[in-house]
Order: sequence, then C-alpha cells, then structure tokens
Amino acid sequence: MRAMTVIPGRPGSEELSELPEPEAGAGELLVEPVLLGVCGTDREILDGVHGEPPPGQERLVLGHELLGRVREAGGGFEAGQLVAGIVRRPDPVPCACCARGEWDMCRNGQYTERGIKALDGYGAELVTLEEDFAIPIPAELGTLGVLAEPASILAKAWEQIDRISTRACSVHERVLVIGAGPIGLLAALMGAQRGLAVHVLDRATEGPKPEAVQSLGGRYHTGDVTEVAKEIEPDLVVECTGVAELVAGAMQHTAPGAIVCLTGVAPSRTLSLDVGALNNELVLENDVIFGSVNANRRHFEQAVKSLADADQDWLRRLITRTVPLDRWPEALEKGDDDIKVVVEFATR
Ligand code: BGC
Repeated sequence: MRAMTVIPGRPGSEELSELPEPEAGAGELLVEPVLLGVCGTDREILDGVHGEPPPGQERLVLGHELLGRVREAGGGFEAGQLVAGIVRRPDPVPCACCARGEWDMCRNGQYTERGIKALDGYGAELVTLEEDFAIPIPAELGTLGVLAEPASILAKAWEQIDRISTRACSVHERVLVIGAGPIGLLAALMGAQRGLAVHVLDRATEGPKPEAVQSLGGRYHTGDVTEVAKEIEPDLVVECTGVAELVAGAMQHTAPGAIVCLTGVAPSRTLSLDVGALNNELVLENDVIFGSVNANRRHFEQAVKSLADADQDWLRRLITRTVPLDRWPEALEKGDDDIKVVVEFATR
C-alpha cells in the first residue's frame, strides 16, 4: 500500500512510500482513509522542526486528520461506516488526567500522537484504528467529517471558555477570533452557534475568508489588532495564529472579565511588552489568559455535533483544495486562498 511518509528532523525527506498493509490487533478496526486533512503541524514535521517516528523506525507515516471507512464490521462499527480518528493516546504511566480519559490535558508529556509523536499516522491506504479511538461520523455529514479533528480543537477551546466563564456573572457577548484559517473559522462558527457577536481578524483582504465570516453573520476585520480590539472591546478572544504581535495584541485591550484563549504555536520570537501594564489589566479587570491544545473523545463528539448543526454548504467552502495521494506533498504547499487542504485516497 502507498503511504505518506517523512523522516522527522530531516527537511525534504517526504515521499510516497510503499509499505506492507497493517493487520488489525485485538480491539482494532481496519480503516480505509477517504480524505485526510493537512495542517500547520504537518508542515512543521516536513520542515524538520516537529515530529518523532515510532520507536525503531526511521520514517513516520504522516497524517492526523482522518476521515475513513471501516473495512470490516467490529466493535459496534458496521462495514462502510465513516469514522474520524482521535489523535492523541494517553501516556503509559498514566498521569492523573490521562487516567481519566483527559489525555488532551496530559501532565507528563509522555503521550503519543498518531502521525505526530511516536505513532504512525493515518496517511496510508489502510490504517488500524483502536475502536475506542474511532469517532462515528453521521452519514448526513459525509466527507465533511474530515473537519472533525480540527473542529475538536475548537470544541475543547470553547468547552474550556464555557467552564471559565462560570466563575462569576460573566455574560459574554463579543468574541474576537484572530486568524481566518480553518481553526479561526471553526472558532467563529462555534461562537456564532453560541449566539455571540463574532469578529474575525485576518490579513486577507479578499477571497473566501471574508465571505466565510460574513455568511456566518460575523464582521471581518483586517489591519492592526490593537485598533480592532480597542474598537470592539472583546470579552472573549480566541487567538489562532501564534504570531507574536497578534498574541500580544490579543492579551491587551479586552473588556473587563475577558477570557483570552491561545490555540496557536509560535516560533520563538522576542517582543517588547509592558508586563506591568498587562499585569494590571489582568488583575484589575479579572481577565483570564489560557492555552488550549488537542482534544479528547468528548470534544470530538461535540465537534461532530457542531459540524452537523452547521450549514453544510458553508463547511464545504472551507475545503479549498483536494490533492490526490500520489501528489500529496503539494497539499502542504501554501496557497494564498487556501483554507483547508485535503488529500484524497482513491482505491487502486
Ligand atoms: C493537533 C493536536 C496536537 C498538536 C501538537 C495539532 O496539529 O491538532 O491534536 O496535540 O498538533 O502535536
């Protein structure tokens, strides 16, 4: 079978490899990928700055945004059922969080991740998936279920925001989402589904991003983050770029009682920041800034519900490019108008 592989730490090592088909162990399903989304994490792995192969292997099978079909019935799954795959596996110790199925909050860093950290991913013509880590995708959602993994990241972020907001009489009304990539747009979708006034800031001045925000009923902004934040005084901010200036801007100029959720990873970068002023804003206004990564089963289920409730045409517009498996590295090339790019698996 063909597989998308890379040698972590070695830029330019990506290839379409020929690998033996896997066999399902106890409690595992065999899944035929249909579509596989790619994201910034995959790009970092190709650039050699992230990723780890399984022990004893040089190459890592890439891919963690799976939409596949179950080959043979088992574990409550019918043959042909569409599934998404959870990314992270709990650490073996396990830490207190992993022991409770909250591996997204792993405390000791010994978790593993399909297609990212010490486990082969889903980018092959046949993959194994533990039944407990398979998420059924309703037939109505169909191949749009490829958005389940990125949506799970936001389902978690919003769950955390909702939990933090119960600490007081915080009624939140306005969310500023920074970045209109797939993560930002899915954050905006979930903000709109919560009935909030949605504002999205991005660099793009035209193309599918402004349209996507407007058709959610949101307002699209370009330009300086500080000016935008001063104008709208957001009481919720979801930062989805990891760009240092934007992160710094996102933390300041919020309304009292604001919650700022950081979801992006950033390359190391030094900026000058008035920490005293930031401290005072946080303290005197009871603000919260927190980071959020990954997702557990509950978040995948919330994500699937949110996607099923969304306008399916709107979701379809998020997938701006489909690349066939034999040309998969092209999926990682950045196009100006790209939102979500997916690799398509055709049966040979
Ligand atoms: C994935 C997360 C993962 C993170 C860090 C992201 O692209 O969506 O599930 O935890 O990368 O490896």
